[in-house]
Amino acid sequence: MNDLRTQAYPALSMYIGGRFIGADEREGQPVINPANGKTLGKLPHATKEDLDHAIASAQTAFETWRWSNPMNRSAILRRVAGMVRERAETLVLNITRDQGKPLAEARIEVAGAADHLEWHAEECRRIYGRSIPPRVPSVRQTVIRQPVGVCAAFSPWNFPLNQGLRKICAALGSGCTLILKPAEEAPSCMVAIAGMFEEAGLPPGVLNIVWGVPAEISDYLIRSPIVRKVSFTGSVPVGKQLAALAGAHMKRVTMELGGHSPVIICDDADIEKAATLLAAYKGLNAGQVCMSPSRFFVQEGVFDEFSELFVKAFASRTIGDGMEEGTLMGPLAHDRRVEAMTSIVADAVEHGATLLTGGARPEGPGSFFQPTVLGGVTDSAMIMREEPFGPVVPLTSFATVDEVLQRANSVPYGLASYAFTRSLERAHQITTRLEAGMVTINHFGLALPETPLGGVKDSGLGSEGGTETFDAYLTTKFISEQTVA
Ligand code: NAD
Repeated sequence: MNDLRTQAYPALSMYIGGRFIGADEREGQPVINPANGKTLGKLPHATKEDLDHAIASAQTAFETWRWSNPMNRSAILRRVAGMVRERAETLVLNITRDQGKPLAEARIEVAGAADHLEWHAEECRRIYGRSIPPRVPSVRQTVIRQPVGVCAAFSPWNFPLNQGLRKICAALGSGCTLILKPAEEAPSCMVAIAGMFEEAGLPPGVLNIVWGVPAEISDYLIRSPIVRKVSFTGSVPVGKQLAALAGAHMKRVTMELGGHSPVIICDDADIEKAATLLAAYKGLNAGQVCMSPSRFFVQEGVFDEFSELFVKAFASRTIGDGMEEGTLMGPLAHDRRVEAMTSIVADAVEHGATLLTGGARPEGPGSFFQPTVLGGVTDSAMIMREEPFGPVVPLTSFATVDEVLQRANSVPYGLASYAFTRSLERAHQITTRLEAGMVTINHFGLALPETPLGGVKDSGLGSEGGTETFDAYLTTKFISEQTVA
């Protein structure tokens, strides 16, 4: 471990048509360590010619890749999974350096990435069609599924490896080719992944990685008539913009957007377990997780007990550089997030909330924010309406399950949701009536490769993972054949 820590941060590059284009060949931007504000490396930006080259390479590669044997596609994904496991510690260190999460969390992300690759390697061999009984015996009716074509995808910085890989696995596994623009803030793992795919024998042009000004790249790629599908993970406003542009050009989309996940703690729940689990879960990636519980509804009879236990547990999440032993919560991705936290806390207090712990940026360098809990938050406060995406928790009480379901469903988001209860009846009511793409009771059971991840309402369209994972990358073709009598 100590030897690995001395490893230099890797050189960064794009990967287009099977060629790596380094930071010395293009204008670009610095990559900053959010724990100390220091520059780690330089990232090249794609020129318009680079984007044209990526589009042309993906188009040419599609003509071969679309007909490739699924066993071969599976073998490549599996080989990369092996490399991810072998090189895990290097990936981990560099994710902690450029994204900020503690090493232990980066290890979970890297292990999850290998799981995703392996699961897609298995599942891509099972992209089946079906046969439909005909009305006359001389006719045979079949439905086949074919890859959609060249895809463009945009992945965010909070899980820089997993969010990008979800899109790579689904596109490549289904026989599509891909131009991916991962997040510029935390690029090291995606450069490493491009190298692994090349080593694993992926033909040039099947996967292309570009960097640049996000809005410029997405606009250029989505308008290209060669790009047939768009996948984005990020905020609701940007997702709506990209989906509208894709819609104007009649392209399919997968949108994994923001959430504002309710967690409902009923008075019959194991309160100590709920408080302990939620403090750890909310602290993951300093709350910068689209599925992070972000509206805490606690039933009246147990509000004080939960509040006391939760505040104690959450306040004890030690913040610091993710590289340091003992750090439980790293920095936010950049200073914009720190400013956002400061303003949502001030707004909640103005709307009558009480600051129970935290609430400020600690002294010193880095984009840190204290684990923060607000009590007695009113539904009119900004934090109850807008996704906080950081380590700030609003607590509010409720009287009945009917009331809390109505309040939980009152925002336009519908991604993840959580509840703690020992009552089967309440669990059933909650899982059935919550407007969310995912509900989990008494634990956190989300985002596994074999389970679908996706939202409803403003939180998105389509699913990643689960057997649904390839759906948005495949077209459905109906074939009806009559034998010549
Ligand atoms: P931001 O909107 O500037 O950026 C968020 C992500 O979207 C970045 O990765 C960025 O590169 C990308 N992006 C932004 N505009 C884009 C465009 N026009 N085309 C393509 N990609 C674009 O905000 P930020 O301050 O960096 O992040 C905070 C917000 O981002 C949060 O409120 C949260 O909603 C959202 N976010 C969501 C997820 C998620 O997993 N759903 C992950 C990261 C960020």
